[in-house]
Amino acid sequence: MRAEIAAQTEKENIMIEIFQDYLRKHDYDRFELKTVLFDMDGVLFDSMKYHARSWKQTMDEYELNSTEEEFYLYEGMIGSNTINTIVKREKGRDATTQEKADIYARKTELFSQMNKGDMIPFALDFVNKVRCEGLDALVVTGSGQPTLIDRLNKSFPNCFKREDMVTAFDVKHGKPHPEPYLMGLSKAGNLKPNQAIVVENAPRGVEASVAAGIFTIAVNTGPIPDQVLADAGANIVLPSMKALYDNWDKYKSFLVD
Ligand code: CA
Repeated sequence: MRAEIAAQTEKENIMIEIFQDYLRKHDYDRFELKTVLFDMDGVLFDSMKYHARSWKQTMDEYELNSTEEEFYLYEGMIGSNTINTIVKREKGRDATTQEKADIYARKTELFSQMNKGDMIPFALDFVNKVRCEGLDALVVTGSGQPTLIDRLNKSFPNCFKREDMVTAFDVKHGKPHPEPYLMGLSKAGNLKPNQAIVVENAPRGVEASVAAGIFTIAVNTGPIPDQVLADAGANIVLPSMKALYDNWDKYKSFLVD
């Protein structure tokens, strides 16, 4: 029993250290959480498998070598950057504007055919939970799917407003550049980084959030090892949205003033 209590105390101390470490590094006295910034694919929607599959099939059609797995590493990047990464590697030159447009159009077409709109378990519960607590919820995504807003409204009714969203249409750089998350802070009401947290599932997305100076929780809903997300700079790495939902009350005690 005593050993159990000691283990529990040790766990709590590690958690306190995680939050204090962020505050020290960023020169804040405390968190003043107002908004949760959500990445979309792999956090709200279980769509990454369809993205990976549609990317791979498109690259096959264009006779560009790739693996389905590698697209999990590029996740969060805007489409044209993913295309350029592959064309550069396979052809030793940058992709042309035409190639980027054609390849992305084909990938989008295949993705739309494959995507079933599956939601990540506990995503809706978690979004509703934070909103019930008076926090705002915003989507910050590298996605540029034309049907994105409709899907979000259908699956997450009354949760997200278009004018507060950051998508591939709004940014120049895309993740891993901090621009999307900096824009998220600005759309959330010119917040400081300690007034928000990010929920991400992809290494490039985690890098973007960390570069924007925001406390970042990674939920590992895909096939990549946890260590990749930790190495990208995630403050906390969890196995699922359910784990985030279950741990939220503990985290909140550090985050809300
Ligand atoms: Ca994602």
